[in-house]
Amino acid sequence: MNSLRFKVVSEAFAKSPVHVESPSSNTSDYFGCQVFGPKQMAKYLSKETYRAFSRVLRGEAQFSPDVAEQVAAGMKTWAMDLGATHYTHWFQPLTEGTAEKHDSFIEYEGMPGGSVIEEFSGKLLAQREADGSSFPNGGIRNTFEARGYTAWDTSSPAFVVDDTLCIPTVFVSYTGEALDYKTPLLRALHSVDEAATAVCHYFDKEVRKVYTYLGWEQEYFLIDEGLYAARPDLLLTGRTLIGHESAKNQQLSDHYFGAIPPRVQAFMKELEFEAYRYAIPCKTRHNEVAPNQFELAPIYGETNLAVDQNLLLMSLMHRVAARHGFRVLLHEKPFAGVNGSGKHNNFSLGTDTGIGLLTPGRTQEENLRFITFLVNVLMAVYRHNGLIKASVMTAGNAHRLGGHEAPPAIISAFLGSQISAVLDRFANASPEEALVFDPVRRMQLGLPYIPEVMLDNTDRNRTSPFAFTGNRFEFRAVGSSVGCGCTMIALTSAVAAQLMDFKAEVDSLIQKGEGKENAIVQVLQRYIRESAPIRFEGNGYSGQWREEATRRGLDCECSVPLCYDAYLSPSSLEMFAKTGVLSEAELRARNEVKWDTYTKKVQIEARVLGDIVLGSVIPVATRYQSMLLDNVYRMHQIYPSDKAAALAEPDTATIEQLSVHIAAAKTAVEAMVEERKRANVIADVRSRAIEYHDKVLPYFETIRYHIDHLELLVDDDLWPFPKYREMLFIN
Ligand code: ADP
Ligand code: MG
Repeated sequence: MNSLRFKVVSEAFAKSPVHVESPSSNTSDYFGCQVFGPKQMAKYLSKETYRAFSRVLRGEAQFSPDVAEQVAAGMKTWAMDLGATHYTHWFQPLTEGTAEKHDSFIEYEGMPGGSVIEEFSGKLLAQREADGSSFPNGGIRNTFEARGYTAWDTSSPAFVVDDTLCIPTVFVSYTGEALDYKTPLLRALHSVDEAATAVCHYFDKEVRKVYTYLGWEQEYFLIDEGLYAARPDLLLTGRTLIGHESAKNQQLSDHYFGAIPPRVQAFMKELEFEAYRYAIPCKTRHNEVAPNQFELAPIYGETNLAVDQNLLLMSLMHRVAARHGFRVLLHEKPFAGVNGSGKHNNFSLGTDTGIGLLTPGRTQEENLRFITFLVNVLMAVYRHNGLIKASVMTAGNAHRLGGHEAPPAIISAFLGSQISAVLDRFANASPEEALVFDPVRRMQLGLPYIPEVMLDNTDRNRTSPFAFTGNRFEFRAVGSSVGCGCTMIALTSAVAAQLMDFKAEVDSLIQKGEGKENAIVQVLQRYIRESAPIRFEGNGYSGQWREEATRRGLDCECSVPLCYDAYLSPSSLEMFAKTGVLSEAELRARNEVKWDTYTKKVQIEARVLGDIVLGSVIPVATRYQSMLLDNVYRMHQIYPSDKAAALAEPDTATIEQLSVHIAAAKTAVEAMVEERKRANVIADVRSRAIEYHDKVLPYFETIRYHIDHLELLVDDDLWPFPKYREMLFIN
């Protein structure tokens, strides 16, 4: 009997929920208590500093060294009151998570060796040198300048985790090239703000700022930590590389929205308490489709902050899970045969005057504005569909996209029948007709009064990657394990560039003497026709859609390394240059990192798979085989040969099946290792990634096929790794 597996299984069964104490009956009592927000500032900063710093936060003043010094002093006292002894610049390098290097507050008061005091200067708060070389940078350091620095993004407040004050920062090279996700995101948000505000002025001169809103929904799996530790594939790659499907998985759809298991409920409760401390406004929690899969979603907020909160939440999830004897799996596809995890990004634009620009209105004017923004978003997604797909493509997410559970690996937009009809009528009306104010004809002519309630979530298409859901678009192709930054950079830059084009076209018509409304209508009508190929209301999983999408000229590439080419297409280069979000050099460097990361992920998985097969599975299968052989041998010693052969027939058949699968698995592993060696010597990072995708990856399925058959054949007592039924159903 395999001791580790059965030990962890019986321990997991015996666990009961951890008791969780509510910090207070009113969430508002402690909401944001770990964050240096307005309340904390008012308490720890002098009136003048508070006022000066508020002006910095509103973008009305520079963050001067003087103010920085005062803010740092107040922040230090606040953090120390919460028990902090260290501080760190918290940033988002081009890996999938965040990075931090903790320094303690202590400094010698005078001579080294003397007494120490706690110090935290404005300089340390505002800016620090960071060793760029330890983080992926795609050769930026060779091209530009070796050193990098981190600088506080004042729009994202500092927070205290455990004993450490964390300061959200950008990470850039000394010559200003972005080495992270935050820098281009801030540039992109700025660009959308300017472009959208300019377009808003056609309708309302009062608008001074347009915000980009993001509401993410985080899906994840929980697994008992003992079971996790007994699976080397989960431990090292975040997903199972082998494992036969459980006899029961999600066929009965009995997990989705079902009762939350008690141990999980305790975890969720504590996670929410933690999240509230960090001002993350968690709103919904529920079971997801797959067994042991769950979701958490906060109330949406400004994008930069929402991105940071999601990254912080992911790290809180790991911390809290450990206290409950769980591990959180954020991988997009931890288990074959059941749904994977995504991170829906709900995206909208809104003005400082409180108007949702993707919210249908009540008046003629409001609806023209709504259609303007809706159509420009559609047009942006149409023009840059390949890029937007590339922005969600990773080695992990590739297992999810294109499966019959997640959006397909083709970007299309779903509007629902009502809005579709509105756009089609609008596109075909004469400009004068489109603007007629008559309430009856308005209904017919595409600028109808649309009751909001009818639009809210009426018809939803779960197979669409980019769906309009009443007042926002829901981008569903984002992976669960990565931050939202990468995708939001691509999406918001594309929208910004599109709004700039729109404004230029409308202005040029106006200059030629066209009336403002007519000019807007004319350009929108052309856009609706031009972007028609991106609209798809049918089943995104069907085979016909792929053919149809190819005919429509949409990007249908599904090889991850080839998808990344979209970042360097002429239209992407032009779009990123025009919005000032990323230069060609930055884009090239980022792609190097993407290709290299892809290669490394597949490489690690291939090694782990090889080790498991050669080091554990084949030896166990061979041991079982020799037990059977022993049995056959003894039969022959007791019975006459004919009878022995007949009696031993089931065993000999199994012995042969075992041989077949053992041999096939071994051959496949050896061939995979050869391919890996061939790929490893390819110098060009893109070609190497392509080789890994085309030549190494395909072996995974072959190997798994044989291993999963061995799992079915080998005595359950001998099987060393927790099985799917154990990982998916114990909680
Ligand atoms: P569903 O699973 O049905 O899509 P959820 O309630 O799980 O819905 O998540 C919806 C997400 O969309 C939440 O994060 C919510 O705050 C967010 N959201 C709602 N309205 C907007 C909006 N106008 N802009 C951006 N996000 C929004
Ligand atoms: Mg959703």
